[in-house]
Amino acid sequence: MPNILFAAGDKRWQQYKDTLPLAFDAVGLTDCDLRRDHAPQDTDYIVYAPSEGGLSDFTPYTKTKAVLCLWAGVEDIVTNTTLTQPLTRMVDTGLSEGMVEWVTGQILRHHLGLDAQIINPDHKWQAIAPPLARNRTVAILGLGALGAACGAALAALNFNVTGWSRSQKSLPGITCHSGEDGLQEVLNTAEILVLLMPLTTATENLINARTLAEMPKGAVIINPGRGPLIDDNALIAALDSGHIAHATLDVFRQEPLPQGHPFWAHPKVTVTPHIASETRPETASQVIAKNIRRSEQGEPLMHLVDRSTGY
Ligand code: NDP
Repeated sequence: MPNILFAAGDKRWQQYKDTLPLAFDAVGLTDCDLRRDHAPQDTDYIVYAPSEGGLSDFTPYTKTKAVLCLWAGVEDIVTNTTLTQPLTRMVDTGLSEGMVEWVTGQILRHHLGLDAQIINPDHKWQAIAPPLARNRTVAILGLGALGAACGAALAALNFNVTGWSRSQKSLPGITCHSGEDGLQEVLNTAEILVLLMPLTTATENLINARTLAEMPKGAVIINPGRGPLIDDNALIAALDSGHIAHATLDVFRQEPLPQGHPFWAHPKVTVTPHIASETRPETASQVIAKNIRRSEQGEPLMHLVDRSTGY
């Protein structure tokens, strides 16, 4: 009987205390003991939400077979040197669907020029038809679970989709690049740029004065990835100069974004409060249950975090 410690806050427990047991039953794990108070030495698996459950020292969890994170981004966890157990991150259909909907919505706002109709105090008859998606290039930095799903949806809408990742990919409907030259090629044609990379030492400040200058004048940036992917001051300078037309930012170096931060009042910045996509308890519970069943059957865990790359 695997003992499963739920190490996340009260709100999260209310969301998962029924869905997780249902998911365990559905995969045939009928004897799981899910609790918030297993002793460390008795804990087989930890369902973990960093910064919520108060658990930061994993040293006493000597027999724990895996720590299953509820979030997709693990930049705050990979630096925890006490966490030596196998660590998985969240990849689930609910998370992907939510991100596809949010990214597509933000892209269509800019592609169709919706603001000009929604904010039109002078009641101007502005009969400018938007271009077709086939004539618009959208670039996605990060072609993992979320970036690839967004790219597929945008390609289905006929956008000209390019993408960049660490390893070279081959994805239907997306012109894929990798490496330094690949990044430059992607940025050079990116009318709308979407950031869906993890925060690591290699991706921090990837969007800086130099890379912003490589983008076409009038480009739009959409960041649901992580705040520090962008050098904030360089972005503000590029917005002020008119080189970048708009930035829609869901994630920030400090969250909640502090009152008085220049992004709040900037006319070319849209702030959304880290809501692009969230882990959905029903689908996430199924992923966790499937992973624990795999582990119990001696199969490799899915969605393992690679400590050497940090994601
Ligand atoms: P994945 O790990 O599946 O994908 C990450 C992608 O980024 C991969 O394609 C990877 O390349 C690429 N990448 C990583 N490092 C580099 C690098 N140095 N150079 C080039 N490419 C790189 O992550 P997900 O798609 O699941 O999630 C992406 C991020 O989205 C999360 O880390 C999180 O920060 C953010 N997120 C935000 C949410 C929100 O609500 N705002 C919700 C959920 C996630 P390769 O394929 O070669 O490994």
